[in-house]
Amino acid sequence: MKPEEYIDVTPEKNHYSLEHFVIPKHYEKDVSSILIPHGVIMDRIQKLARLIVDDTTGPLVVCCILKGGHQYFADLVNQIKALTKNNGMSVPLSLEFIRVKSYKNDQSEGVTISMSESECRELEGKNLLIVEDIIDTGKTMVKLLERLQDYKPKSVRVTSLLVKKTERSNGYIPDYVGFAIPDAFVVGYALDYNEYFRDLDHICVISEHGKKAYAV
Ligand code: 5GP
Repeated sequence: MKPEEYIDVTPEKNHYSLEHFVIPKHYEKDVSSILIPHGVIMDRIQKLARLIVDDTTGPLVVCCILKGGHQYFADLVNQIKALTKNNGMSVPLSLEFIRVKSYKNDQSEGVTISMSESECRELEGKNLLIVEDIIDTGKTMVKLLERLQDYKPKSVRVTSLLVKKTERSNGYIPDYVGFAIPDAFVVGYALDYNEYFRDLDHICVISEHGKKAYAV
């Protein structure tokens, strides 16, 4: 996807004050601003689902990248299910779950991908849609895509709800992107910080207080 085709929420003036939306009491001091309210996330997913369905011929294996990607995956799959193509046909879906771990605190610690050989072999000849929550450096996705190619899928497309604008990026951009975000650590909508904030609906920038409170 080209940058002009996704929503850029990097300018600071576009961030929402905590006063403007409801934040769970237990996180009030732990986030500094709201970057993307939950309603906007849902509206954007509806559009991404439309683009994906329009580009899809035949059945799709939708692959959820756990754990951060699960909320986006669930909402995207629901939207795809609700849509039909111009010719009135809907897209047959099957679902896969791939666990990828790459962070401790807010610094990268390398990646581990957990998928058994037999699970990988099931992907041969299939059209895959990889669903990720966020692309930061792009390293995780490039590694995953390399590994998946060994199993000869018919096609692989990638969607990420967020892409971070950072100098550390390796230049990888997914086929379908929701929002470009600033180079800050974000939480909420299932994106975690050491397993916290998965119960926050909006995508928010973590505060220094939050980083200290939930550090390991
Ligand atoms: P990459 O390999 O692209 O640098 O990292 C991708 C993974 O890092 C994501 O799937 C996510 O788990 C984690 N990550 C990167 N940036 C953030 C962030 O701002 N917030 C959270 N919660 N996770 C992040």
